[in-house]
Amino acid sequence: MSRYWSEFVHHLEPYVPGEQPKMARLVKLNTNENPYPPSDKVLKAIAGATDEALRLYPDPDASALKQAIADFHGVQASQVFVGNGSDEVLAHLFMGFFRQPQPLLFPDITYSFYKVYCGLYDIDYRTVPLREDFSLALADFDSHNGGIIFPNPNAPTGRLLPLADIEALLQRNTESLVVVDEAYVDFGGESAIALVNRYPNLLVVQTLSKSRSLAGLRIGFAVGQAPLIDGLERIKNSFNSYPLDRLAIAAGVASFEDHAAFEESRQRIIASRDALTAALTERGFRVLPSAANFIFASHPRHAGDALAAALREHGVIVRHFGKPARIAPYLRITIGTEEQNAALLAALDQTL
Ligand code: PMP
Repeated sequence: MSRYWSEFVHHLEPYVPGEQPKMARLVKLNTNENPYPPSDKVLKAIAGATDEALRLYPDPDASALKQAIADFHGVQASQVFVGNGSDEVLAHLFMGFFRQPQPLLFPDITYSFYKVYCGLYDIDYRTVPLREDFSLALADFDSHNGGIIFPNPNAPTGRLLPLADIEALLQRNTESLVVVDEAYVDFGGESAIALVNRYPNLLVVQTLSKSRSLAGLRIGFAVGQAPLIDGLERIKNSFNSYPLDRLAIAAGVASFEDHAAFEESRQRIIASRDALTAALTERGFRVLPSAANFIFASHPRHAGDALAAALREHGVIVRHFGKPARIAPYLRITIGTEEQNAALLAALDQTL
């Protein structure tokens, strides 16, 4: 008998999460968190939680949160699936829906977790190259596939696809599952949730980690037609896992009750993104057009790794991906508060 178990684990290439530094006072622009606090209503919901929030098991259906999400997006609660962050939602759907005889398709530069799940669940995949300008060409995704997944806006590039391109893909690809990962859509995109009632093979995944400032609570969800959602529930229930704890459910519901706070924080980030894009362009950077809460930028005279290291010396951390070679010159910079963005620019002015 081969030591399959040990070889398998050895061959897994794990996802490398962004650093969560222990040192205080770093300007942390490396993991696309929201620099602004969540709504006061969220903070009150958590502060006001009774002992039951700890003592009792949570609602296994998280039905209050599903209803809040459904109301916000104009769908039925039976069309909403929730999980511990959108990463867990993705884990369930990769395992349950993408282990197909034909390869899963995703862009060659995209969220690096997709490859990790393929390795873990033994999913055959094929990547589709981005265009020269890093835009995503859905027309290049052929119909020989066991599923399609891409983020919109894409990560780590921030580039956005119009909804019409996604609809054209759905019209060509009527059989296999199409998953649109909308972790960053609230910063400038149009959600494909508007299409789910017309396309039974469409699943849209979102998170409360970014635009709703709740990365620490781990809340993600998927919206699709009821049979698809029912499928996801069956997969989840095979683990006897609770989707979310009581505090997360209460906070998630409160977040959807405060539309004004949500709007204010995302508009501030969009405005800062535009200002930061202009300031970096002035300093000679090439900045890709972004519809996310981060920008992807390279400098013609400074290598990406050297720039990231120099910024760190000045107490500013950004994300640098060494691979693939095409993105090695780039930094992925999370949009911070105005003060954080100013600190980044000051550090760059001392470096460039
Ligand atoms: N999808 C994409 C494209 C992301 O960048 C991230 C954040 N790393 C996620 C999903 C997962 O986010 P979360 O698990 O916090 O919902």
